[in-house]
Amino acid sequence: MAAIIDGKAISLQMKDELKQKAAELLAKGMKVTLAVIQVGDNPASSVYVKNKKKGCEYIGIGSLSYELPEETTQEELLALIQELNGRTDVNGILVQLPLPAHIDEDTVIKAIDPRKDVDGFHPQSVGALCIGQKGFVSCTPAGIIQLLKRSGISIEGKECVVLGRSNIVGKPMSILLLRENATVTIAHSRTRNLKEVTSRADILIVAIGKPKMITKEYVKEGAVIIDVGINRDENNKLCGDVDFEDVEPVCSAITPVPGGVGPMTIAMLLHNCIESVDLQS
Ligand code: NDP
Repeated sequence: MAAIIDGKAISLQMKDELKQKAAELLAKGMKVTLAVIQVGDNPASSVYVKNKKKGCEYIGIGSLSYELPEETTQEELLALIQELNGRTDVNGILVQLPLPAHIDEDTVIKAIDPRKDVDGFHPQSVGALCIGQKGFVSCTPAGIIQLLKRSGISIEGKECVVLGRSNIVGKPMSILLLRENATVTIAHSRTRNLKEVTSRADILIVAIGKPKMITKEYVKEGAVIIDVGINRDENNKLCGDVDFEDVEPVCSAITPVPGGVGPMTIAMLLHNCIESVDLQS
């Protein structure tokens, strides 16, 4: 039977460590504050934003909330970001994605001061990650590295296959694994013989947004499976990109959905907020 990688417990452990650090900073007179901007009222975004604010509260850092109407113009949003960039009492700025169609996400991301880019999406943050310099790292892939390390799973020298090549998960994930000295393959929708490729993996990370697509035919016996997907199945129940029931008997460890990668994303966001103090000093 596979070990279940408990993201909820590991994220709680991380949040308790961050709580301690936030208290130490506060004792030195440094109150860390995250500004969260949401445009429109996408219900999924509202849940994410609420959880991020709850996380700030838990570790004892401040959060400022900007809930802007759907019809907010790009210029208005950019003006708010400029204001927050200039405020010394704001350490991190997060713009919840997706944005309404009339606003260009790339322009908005680029407007955030890279020293406050706690999501790690700014091109400068991505570039720094690629060449091994200091900067914010995208929260979901950084959280997966923590999940593996804190579960005692070594990465060095392993065959890692990352399925999915998005800018927020797949690409930064591959670079982080490389940084940990893994041998990394990135697979995507144009990959030929996908099952053959994924079956090489000692550690398989799946981020494709396709409910339960990955069955045991894609998995090497004894592999570690990290399921990033958050989807709804035919009964509207949350599920991952991996068919958990099918894969669990053949792998050595696996993340559940929910309760695997998801909670780590918020823990890493809070980690980046605390780190921001260093980057800004
Ligand atoms: P994107 O849609 O941006 O990217 C999906 C990637 O999967 C693409 O690279 C695509 O290939 C590839 N892909 C799609 N279908 C297939 C297929 N049939 N075979 C092989 N590759 C395929 O998704 P994201 O990276 O943003 O998200 C992926 C999943 O992770 C989603 O379910 C999302 O909800 C979830 N997620 C979860 C987070 C968390 O905190 N747990 C955070 C972020 C995302 P190509 O490039 O060729 O099109």
